[in-house]
Amino acid sequence: MIIVLNMKRRLTPQREAILELIGSSDRHWDAESIAKMLARKGRAIGLATVYRGLAVLEEEGLIHAIQLTDGKKRYERAGKEHHDHFICKLCGSITEFSHPAEARILEHLSRETGAVVHGHEFVVFGVCASCREAS
Ligand SMILES: [Zn+2]
Ligand SMILES: [Zn+2]
Repeated sequence: MIIVLNMKRRLTPQREAILELIGSSDRHWDAESIAKMLARKGRAIGLATVYRGLAVLEEEGLIHAIQLTDGKKRYERAGKEHHDHFICKLCGSITEFSHPAEARILEHLSRETGAVVHGHEFVVFGVCASCREAS
């Protein structure tokens, strides 16, 4: 893995296992499900180590974090094309979406404020279609 050479901090076997798991799927992982999945694969890592590993991998830009309102984070692989997230408050499922209007909103922001926009995060909360049906 070439990215390892660019890391400021060592990629421990535990961190590598976490990175591999996130990098090999399109899921949005929370720390608990990462710990569970690694245990199932015979590579059990303590939850505290998973949290620390995720923080390091995020700082190194190797994974992308989605900040939730309850202070928790979900993680996905880095380098995906820009997209935003809808999160179901009942089942926690995450749906990715994007819309061309976002670019216009950011242009508007730049024009109105003179700011240089580097990026944005748009997280939408609600109840997903299957949870709506179930209730
Ligand atoms: Zn739901
Ligand atoms: Zn995503």
